[in-house]
Amino acid sequence: MTLPLPPGSRDRDGWHALAQSLPLPRQAYIGGTWCNSQSGQTFATQNPATGNVLTEIAACQASDVDRAVAIAREGFASGEWRDLPPTERKTCMLAWASAIDAHTDEIALLETLETGKPITQTTSVDVPGLVSSLRWYAEALDKLYGETAPNGATSLCIVDREPVGVVAAVVPWNYPLIIAGWKIGPALGAGNSVILKPAEQSSLATLRVASLALDAGIPASAFQVITGLGHEAGRALGLHPDVDAIGFTGSTEIGKKFLEYSAHSNMKRIGLECGGKSPHIVTRDVTDLDLIAQYVAYGVWYNQGETCHAGTRLIVDRAIKDDLLPRIAEWAQRLQPGDPLDPDTTMGAMIEPSHADKVLDYIERGKAEGARLLFGGERVLKDSGGDFISPAIFDDVDNHMTIAQEEIFGPVLVVISVDGVDEALAIANDSDYGLGAAIWTDRINDAHRAARTLRAGTVWVNCYDHTSINAPFGGFKQSGQGRDKSLHAFDKYTELKTTWINLGN
Ligand code: NAD
Repeated sequence: MTLPLPPGSRDRDGWHALAQSLPLPRQAYIGGTWCNSQSGQTFATQNPATGNVLTEIAACQASDVDRAVAIAREGFASGEWRDLPPTERKTCMLAWASAIDAHTDEIALLETLETGKPITQTTSVDVPGLVSSLRWYAEALDKLYGETAPNGATSLCIVDREPVGVVAAVVPWNYPLIIAGWKIGPALGAGNSVILKPAEQSSLATLRVASLALDAGIPASAFQVITGLGHEAGRALGLHPDVDAIGFTGSTEIGKKFLEYSAHSNMKRIGLECGGKSPHIVTRDVTDLDLIAQYVAYGVWYNQGETCHAGTRLIVDRAIKDDLLPRIAEWAQRLQPGDPLDPDTTMGAMIEPSHADKVLDYIERGKAEGARLLFGGERVLKDSGGDFISPAIFDDVDNHMTIAQEEIFGPVLVVISVDGVDEALAIANDSDYGLGAAIWTDRINDAHRAARTLRAGTVWVNCYDHTSINAPFGGFKQSGQGRDKSLHAFDKYTELKTTWINLGN
């Protein structure tokens, strides 16, 4: 165990120097110990900003998953975590959160190295996001009361929540720590044994977080990390007959696979947070176009556009479009990609070469289908060896074009022009997805009508991506099922137990 790094800001050279000396974890965390996969197989993890291999990591397979699930099950049956008084579980989770907090710089650096996100964002958003989730669910867990169902004087009908048992959290690479926190917080808080599988592109920061769990009092059986490839380790968790619930975040394609895994195994409960193509509506009744332009820019380009609820479809009234687009283009100019370890960088690298190619293919497809590329959309900083794409704006987009219907998961904004709010709402809902949606309007009736009409898990009015851990997050339609965040997240990881006591004989 290394000591926490002293807090404090670093310049670009300081972060690079720290990156040189930072130990990189490479083993899975099973039963409180660090292990290679039983097969000895590994996979390479790369730095997206340089293309260099960072390290080789244990590629766990079905036999490793079997071992972790057996440990989790035994621990659950023993009650060593779930039967602790809630205040004690709370104390352990708070201690873990504080240890993570104390190691923010180191953990953030690992996440930046493996994902290509700017270091200013991993230090200020990603690590604090995980810490605050753990703290919020730790504080919530001893405030969850049961119910009694009113059935008259002759019975006592108690409705309680129990942990489901063994929970596997399978998470993506775009916000590895934040999303892990949305699963671990409620699942662990409710008393389950949790097995976390990070995406193969982003295991390092997660493993460092795991290394702080045992000392905080989280039993070895209650939290484990299985590293590995999705179609091996992820599939084995999905099909395992002794996993009771899966908390999945990732693509809609793989989310559907988890539904199949469940059907083909033990009907385990599946919570899904999947893809999106979120509409961002700007009506003609708005005044502050500078502010809106800033929100549109951050709504689509933050995190290189690799955000599930990115506001990728700008649906704008023709009456104001020509005033708004140049302002958004100014932001595109400003948010140019750069070295993720430079504190001045606001946009980093795409996660991996194949993903960058996919994004560039979509850009070509947009042009071929008749949309007009107004700005960006090019591979830049080629000398770095990394995969950087400049923010792109497509105008003259029809909602039926591929770039308006499919999730690109890159820095590409498509602009669809409309006449009036009714047309905007109809186009916004014409999508397989329903994760986020937003409307800017100064008319209160339009705001309420949009909030009711838009088929999305979150509707923002006169803002975008405002968020808090106490507000549920998730999708309608093929964006998922169930909700992360807030007290509602406990629904995914608990069973309701009805106990009916007859008092009337
Ligand atoms: P992905 O679906 O490829 O992978 C997600 C996880 O599933 C990873 O851990 C991966 O290893 C695993 N996996 C991959 N193939 C598997 C298989 N055959 N069987 C079992 N597990 C498998 O997604 P990604 O590329 O890591 O992330 C990007 C996607 O995640 C985007 O579609 C994005 O919209 C979505 N996402 C959704 C939310 C949300 O809250 N709705 C948040 C973030 C990301």
